[in-house]
Amino acid sequence: MNNTFSVKSVVVEGGTLDVTFSTTGHISKYFNSPLKFHVEYSEDIEKVPVGIAIIPFVCNVLPIVWLTDSTLELPEIDNDFYRSIDKFKQGYVKMYPMLDFKGKVSPLKIIESKTSTPPQQKESSAAFFGGGVDAFATLIAHIAEKPTLMTLWGSDIPLKDTDGWEVVKNHTLKTAENFGLQAIFVKTNFRELLNYIELNRLVKMSGDNYWHGFQHGIGIIGHAAPLAAKNGFSTIYIASSFNVNDNKTCASHPDIDGNVRFAGCNIIHDQYEYDRQAKVDHICSFSEKLDEKPHLRVCWVTTCGNNCCRCEKCLRTMCEIFATGQDPHKYSFNYTTKDLRNSKMNIFSRGLCISSIGFWEQIKLELINRPQAICPDELEWIKHTDFEREIKSTKMRAGIFLRNLPSRIINKIKHIFAI
Ligand SMILES: [Zn+2]
Repeated sequence: MNNTFSVKSVVVEGGTLDVTFSTTGHISKYFNSPLKFHVEYSEDIEKVPVGIAIIPFVCNVLPIVWLTDSTLELPEIDNDFYRSIDKFKQGYVKMYPMLDFKGKVSPLKIIESKTSTPPQQKESSAAFFGGGVDAFATLIAHIAEKPTLMTLWGSDIPLKDTDGWEVVKNHTLKTAENFGLQAIFVKTNFRELLNYIELNRLVKMSGDNYWHGFQHGIGIIGHAAPLAAKNGFSTIYIASSFNVNDNKTCASHPDIDGNVRFAGCNIIHDQYEYDRQAKVDHICSFSEKLDEKPHLRVCWVTTCGNNCCRCEKCLRTMCEIFATGQDPHKYSFNYTTKDLRNSKMNIFSRGLCISSIGFWEQIKLELINRPQAICPDELEWIKHTDFEREIKSTKMRAGIFLRNLPSRIINKIKHIFAI
């Protein structure tokens, strides 16, 4: 083992955290320069000990440490977190038997840190909040606890996208206001720091990419450690994207997230027992009596914060709401009859992939079988469609179309998409 990550400094000023580090061996290729992990919290974390402040950084390099059999040298670490490392590492070992997870964490000092909640004060919680179906399902399930919302900039929204961030931030603020909650914002370079071309090569055997398969669970969760220590959060929720019946690899999984601990705080990978339709059911049932329904922000096409009502994700969520017997208009899907009329064409040309077929087969059954389901005439086609067969014939038609193109155009396409 010749590879070493060594933390040179951990500087906290107000809400700003900087961790500078160096590497030896061949691991520098996995990072973009400068080797500085930089986070800006919307609140002061200055009194948080180094052993806690360092956790966001550690969470984002640990999978690289393991996969490259490296040593991670730290000046100080929280004991709770340190003891949890091997437990959540086992979640990766179980998920990726084709890879070796070696390496070690070598701290100079291990500290005992507690959350700052006075004993007489009720325990408090926080939830990561992105504004979509998963996040709202978690929020609603735990609304009695009044969880603090935490939203990251640098995860789905790139740091250079200031307009997109304003939309996301305002959406979280509006949700916090509607439900009487606090909101904390975190700007982080945890993605920009990494060289995903090299990291994806490193994990190629897993069949997943580095961000989705290895980083984004603990990579996001780690950012909450200073906030938990400062605010006395005893529980942090991260919403599940998949459910217990999905047989998929994903860095955010109960066996990984659920074993992370820091400063006396537990992490819960939340609502894993529910599929997406059940989550939409919970949201719509909870919201039925609310004058203002939650603004579900699901679109993966627009950056303005509105749902386009044309992409596969928008149309899928709209249909899941129709299946509850409610109108998606109330949940900020400002669709037109034309959007519904073009739905089949749009679903098959804007994002439907093999992994989404299960969602649509379920929607089909709910629209057919649920007495309360609303199915506008323009969506009747869903009830009679074999999604697997349809997607295969769509791909086949696309293949025939491509094969009939002049070779100079095919070469141009291959060049653009690097295929
Ligand atoms: Zn959309």
